Amino acid sequence: MSGSILFIGTGAGGSSGSTRWRASTLVELPDALFLVDCGVGCHYRLSDRGVLPDIDLVYVTHMHMDHFLGLPELIFQAHMEGRKEPLKIVGPEGIAEAIRAVGPHLFSDINFPLQIETASNGKTIVFGRAKLQVMEACHLVPSYGLKVSQGDISIGFSSDTLEPCPGLAPMKGTKILIHEATCDDSYTELCRKYGHSTARQAIEASLKFDSEVALLNHIDERFHNVNATVKNLLKVSEKPLARIVNDLDKVLLK
Ligand SMILES: [Zn+2]
Repeated sequence: MSGSILFIGTGAGGSSGSTRWRASTLVELPDALFLVDCGVGCHYRLSDRGVLPDIDLVYVTHMHMDHFLGLPELIFQAHMEGRKEPLKIVGPEGIAEAIRAVGPHLFSDINFPLQIETASNGKTIVFGRAKLQVMEACHLVPSYGLKVSQGDISIGFSSDTLEPCPGLAPMKGTKILIHEATCDDSYTELCRKYGHSTARQAIEASLKFDSEVALLNHIDERFHNVNATVKNLLKVSEKPLARIVNDLDKVLLK
């Protein structure tokens, strides 16, 4: 079975400059194309690659702006590019209101229906042949991690969370764990205060879940010296295979 993960945005809410855009990841499975989080501007990169009108599901992990503000523009752009099929949006309580506040016309004047569902702990979404399992992360607002399973592929998304987080226990056995790593070790306390993880905590979580690969994203380079993490932490980590991902990195699934 083949597929890919394309990192559209690997930054955090306060990331400066344009090196790392806001959170967004595209997952392509043999019969399912979906987006996890939709930070501002994600539609540009999706549109450039010609995949925007084909995305059938947008999953929003939580209602912090860096994870959902791109949604109204993504909906409108998909309309402009000829989408006709329903678009499913799954997100926490308040997701429909957020879209309505920005663009009420999006519910009436576009060429495809929006199917909006509320995410909750334990919810399972069947999408194509993939099973998406929702679980509660540990953040300042309701935040929902996601485990995607299809055949021998399993991908976990931590959402924004501090670690250890008991609610993410169902992540056990996830082969590829995409975990937020907002900070490095020197900002451990700051990260905890704001409900985030360090790179070390992300790797510890991936060990606990028996993951083979840990891909670290949601990096805030004000609080995370990536070069130091690569040199001091990732070089000594043999299992899982861990690395920090950058915008537009593509990971092939096989
Ligand atoms: Zn957040």
